[in-house]
Amino acid sequence: MENKNEITITFDSYSVNEGFARMAAAAFLTEFNPTLDEIEDVKTAISEAVTNAVIHGYEGTIGKVTLNFKRKGQEVEIIVEDHGKGIVDIEKAKQPFYTTKPELERSGMGFAFMEAFMDHVLVESKPDEGTRVTMTKKVGMREV
Ligand code: ATP
Ligand code: MG
Repeated sequence: MENKNEITITFDSYSVNEGFARMAAAAFLTEFNPTLDEIEDVKTAISEAVTNAVIHGYEGTIGKVTLNFKRKGQEVEIIVEDHGKGIVDIEKAKQPFYTTKPELERSGMGFAFMEAFMDHVLVESKPDEGTRVTMTKKVGMREV
């Protein structure tokens, strides 16, 4: 198989679908020969991004969330996109402990986790248009 692959999945922003997104990430990674830690890292990052789309992007209304998985050699790129309310100040939103929903007991650590568990995280967003989070990570590179 060529070291190149792409899958796109679109689903409704029901929180139950977060589990589906985690499973899809694990399934996509299989061909990278990942470690269990790498699978866990990517699943954690994707659930943070999907939870954000559900809770903040759509705020309880139901819209579409699109996941795009790409293999580029030993690097996986994952895009999580919503067409929800968007983020006004992206730099502020990315700071650890910053949350606009303290009443929901959010801790403001979602972006910090994505950055900790992935190699690179890019957040693009426009108010009233939506948010796109692009994350990359090298996977399956361990020495044997
Ligand atoms: P936690 O992830 O720890 O439960 P949180 O979701 O508030 O808390 P982050 O995931 O770091 O923390 O997000 C920080 C803030 O960025 C959110 O409180 C929200 O205001 C904004 N945000 C994040 N993702 C989106 C999104 N998809 N659409 C709109 N706003 C978002
Ligand atoms: Mg979050």
